[in-house]
This record gives sequence, C-alpha cells and structure tokens, in this order.
Amino acid sequence: MKLTCLDCGSVNRVPSDKLGAGPKCGTCGGKINTAKVYELDPAALAKATKNDNLPLLVDFWAPWCGPCRMMAPEFTKTAKALAPHARLAKINTEDFPKVGQKNNIRGIPTMVLYQNGREIARQSGAIQAAAIENFVRSNAKVDA
Ligand SMILES: [Zn+2]
Repeated sequence: MKLTCLDCGSVNRVPSDKLGAGPKCGTCGGKINTAKVYELDPAALAKATKNDNLPLLVDFWAPWCGPCRMMAPEFTKTAKALAPHARLAKINTEDFPKVGQKNNIRGIPTMVLYQNGREIARQSGAIQAAAIENFVRSNAKVDA
C-alpha cells in the first residue's frame, strides 16, 4: 500500500503485512509508520492525504487554543492504540494559516480522517482518547 513519509514527503510502497515491521522511507531513511504523532507541514499533508491507503487522522490545532492543548495527550494515546494500523498527525494552523482555509477548517481543534486519497470523516471539538479511537475505527477501514 502507498504510505507517504511524513518527514520528507516521499511516497513509499509498503506491503500490508510489513506495516508493523518498522518500515523505513526509501528517500530519507526515517521510520514511516510509528506510534508517534507526526508534525506535518502543508506539503507533507497534501501528499499524504492524496496518496495514502492507510488511515491518517490529522489534528488541525494551534498553540493558543486551550482545548487543543488539552486534547494533545489523548491524541498521543490514540496514536499508540491504533499503531500500526493508522497514523496520527497534527498541523499547526498558526504556523500555516492557509492550510486551515484550504481544508475548510472553521474551528479548532478539528480532526480530519483520510484514507485512500480522500477525506472520509471529520470531527470538531476536543474529545478523549477512547472517542478518538472509536471515531477512526467506525469511519475508516482499520485492519485490527
Ligand atoms: Zn522520508
């Protein structure tokens, strides 16, 4: 399946049975499917959301937003719970103001779920880890 390296933006191909085997990016050598929450820039966001077959949940947030900061540890927990079957990432809409506009983000935090090159669901407001995990599982095709 296609999986974008969220560090350098290269699109990699990874056999689905190797998703949990620490696959590395063919371009930069970085680990492309870990349980961490990746920090995105607009270029990596655009590539991953257009190409990836693995579910990708993106948190549109900003440092000045209290609920965003409250949700951050919940988001980190969910990344661990769903690895290696989904990736979680966030993008700072203060650093990249155009990205919110382009993705039609009206309030933050907003989480947008992508799979197979398109948006499949979105959810606004801070929620807890169990609810985030359930949001991903009930909307995306998650293998386990
Ligand atoms: Zn890379």
